[in-house]
Amino acid sequence: MVVPPYRYGADPTQWITVPPQGYGGIQWVVATLMDGLLEAGCEILLLGAPGSPVQDGVTVSPAVKTTDIHVAIEAFAPDVVHDHSNAAALPPGGLRPTVSTHHLNGVPEGQINGVYLSRAQRIAAGSESAPVIRLPVNASRYPFQEAKDDYLLFLGRVSAHKGVRESAAFARAADLPLTVAGPAWEKDYLDALLADFPHTVRYVGEVGGSARTRLIARARAQLVLSQPWGGPFSGRWVEPGATVVSEAAASGTPVIASDNGCLPEIVPGVGTVLPVGQEITPRDAERVLGSLPTAQAVREAAVDRWSHHTIARQYLAVYKRAVSGEVWT
Ligand code: UDP
Repeated sequence: MVVPPYRYGADPTQWITVPPQGYGGIQWVVATLMDGLLEAGCEILLLGAPGSPVQDGVTVSPAVKTTDIHVAIEAFAPDVVHDHSNAAALPPGGLRPTVSTHHLNGVPEGQINGVYLSRAQRIAAGSESAPVIRLPVNASRYPFQEAKDDYLLFLGRVSAHKGVRESAAFARAADLPLTVAGPAWEKDYLDALLADFPHTVRYVGEVGGSARTRLIARARAQLVLSQPWGGPFSGRWVEPGATVVSEAAASGTPVIASDNGCLPEIVPGVGTVLPVGQEITPRDAERVLGSLPTAQAVREAAVDRWSHHTIARQYLAVYKRAVSGEVWT
């Protein structure tokens, strides 16, 4: 299991672990998939995340450089390499059967046997037939709470394409506070948000551990109003997989999403989808909040569609294809 090695904080010896200390989309996906693969009896070498918690069946490698990752893979001799770095952390022309989950936007460079998180992401990558496997959730990591508090939640990067402003506008129309949690690397965007929505937005910074799961479980709804512009690199943003949707649903928290990227594929049944650009009036907000599915229904849908067991089985089938020598784009 190869994740891109990302530094954690200012200490050069610290890496974002699996699961992550705070923000970490790819690291949460890998942690949850590993839960399912371990229960299915796999043995796993984890690369690119030194310092990750030790557990039965997992060897955490200290390797972070491509050459060291290569040596560690050859020493472990796995049946299959599951790459989450768009091949960036792998040596060119790896010797082992490889499957590569694409976590970002656009056409992945150096993709080997790609797996996509949504049809929208696959189309944007120019692939027609590569497997689509949804992001997994391990419901036992997310406490379920039926009774909700009176706030809406935005959880993620505080960036334009993640739709934090649109979330604040929805919350204001709903006359509810919006708790915003996540890293704010674009300081101007955060400052403008706080200046423009002073009575609506409560910014709590990056969250991890039980503070994170509690925030999700108690929210009346989670807002995922992703926007198709202002994304990193190319500018255009197709929401690829949206980990936060399955996490919210597993906690019994319904989702209010835009129709960008994967969201219309995954949100029906666990929430409501609104068109990008729609101005929300107080009446719209009231109607949306009044029509959300129940906590019980969204938890059941999450487990039914995206449980770590189900998604691990789908990956095991794809691993077998790669091991048998099949190659796809
Ligand atoms: N997250 C977190 N703490 C924060 C903000 C986000 O743990 O303060 C997690 C969140 O729960 C999710 C991931 O970071 O697991 C964000 O993944 P998502 O796919 O929603 O967004 P992206 O990968 O595009 O940033």
